[in-house]
Amino acid sequence: MKISFFGAAREVTGSCHLVEAKDEQGATHRILVDCGMFQGEERLCGSKNMKPFGFDPTTIDSVFVTHPHADHTGRLPKLIKEGFRGRIYLTEPCRALTRIVLEDAHHIMTENAQRCGDPVLYQKEDLDVLLEHAEGVGYHQQVTVAPGFTVMFHDAGHVLGSAFISVEAEGKRVVFSGDIGNDDVPILPATERISRADVVVCESTYGHRVHEPPKERVGKLRAAIEAIMHEGGVLMIPSFSIERTQELLYAINLMLRDLKTSMTFFLDSPMAIRATEVYRQFKNYLLFDHPILGEADRDFFSFPNLRETLTVPESKAINETKPPFVVIAGSGMMSGGRILHHLIRHLPDPNSTLLIIGYQAAGTLGRRIYEGAKTVRVFKEEVSVRCKVTAIGAFSAHGDMHKLTRWLVPEEGGVPKKIFLVHGDPEAQDVFETHLRHELKTEVHAPSFGETVEV
Ligand SMILES: [Zn+2]
Repeated sequence: MKISFFGAAREVTGSCHLVEAKDEQGATHRILVDCGMFQGEERLCGSKNMKPFGFDPTTIDSVFVTHPHADHTGRLPKLIKEGFRGRIYLTEPCRALTRIVLEDAHHIMTENAQRCGDPVLYQKEDLDVLLEHAEGVGYHQQVTVAPGFTVMFHDAGHVLGSAFISVEAEGKRVVFSGDIGNDDVPILPATERISRADVVVCESTYGHRVHEPPKERVGKLRAAIEAIMHEGGVLMIPSFSIERTQELLYAINLMLRDLKTSMTFFLDSPMAIRATEVYRQFKNYLLFDHPILGEADRDFFSFPNLRETLTVPESKAINETKPPFVVIAGSGMMSGGRILHHLIRHLPDPNSTLLIIGYQAAGTLGRRIYEGAKTVRVFKEEVSVRCKVTAIGAFSAHGDMHKLTRWLVPEEGGVPKKIFLVHGDPEAQDVFETHLRHELKTEVHAPSFGETVEV
């Protein structure tokens, strides 16, 4: 079996791995695991996406998608435009979320194209074509590429319906991690164990870091909510639409059982509202054994004080609300979206709080505020930052060094003979590589773009 790396090789985005293997008759078949977009630090879509894939799309039998994030799905429309005619396999929630993610990415790409001439990778119509190719599969359902060449999805606990993928052919079993979820994510089942693997292709986003304990995230969130209840300001939470927002809504829902307040919580992000609908729709993919909510509350994401402001007039009407209130809005790194309007109004207010709950990439507005800028530019306006700025690190959707290391040890058959690290910055990968060699005593390698390995 051969694996070639055509993305997320010595970098975080652009996941795209080609697997070539022989069936029982000796004929070669080629599949892709993910077909993601390269994303820049500040801009959504880098020009690298316009370059050739490095393989011929017409020769690919099928694509297996681990989860909906654009860095795993964003080049699927390009693949089809360049001649791919096979099936795209993914879980049902992943199919629903992929449309939302790629529509949003299209919207941002169009804006960036007007502003700074960035490329627009696909049009909205291309997404209809993409979804015609898509076929929903469940966890543990075996997909046969050819006799003796099979693929299976397993729960990765990263976002709703996310998967890691096992490929079996030529008597070997190779596992592709996709993105592996954090520990103790309250709404999703825990990441499944690998049953057995000869080789693992593993993400390494936070392979160099140890996250703060999950309990701290709820404590800090509660402290921020209580502070504005008493001081009368606005709590702004810039949030990523998928997973982070739903975890937040869940945590607030739980908190409001004993935190008595009539304060309104606005969810002011059309994408997050649509994504939350998908979470509600695919309840069987969520974890339901919570000791407090349990079976009694089958909608983790709704509570009486929640207002979802889908339309622009509804969003504008938030300004007429008397503080205190909470507003959750995109984008997560404050590089666009409705959060910007709230920042202009409330950054200068010493009673308000900006609560940062996700990674802020270099060059983004979020990073500048996080690092303590006293004034920032929002929509060509100079805005002074006088509100409180706090950050919670533990709302990460990715496992840390310890989680990934534990996950890499299968239930049977011993440690994989080889581990390939993808989806990480070179510095993170180098630290993780050294750590894994020491801990697991196996061969570890971080391949570069276009590299092919025989396994
Ligand atoms: Zn992801």
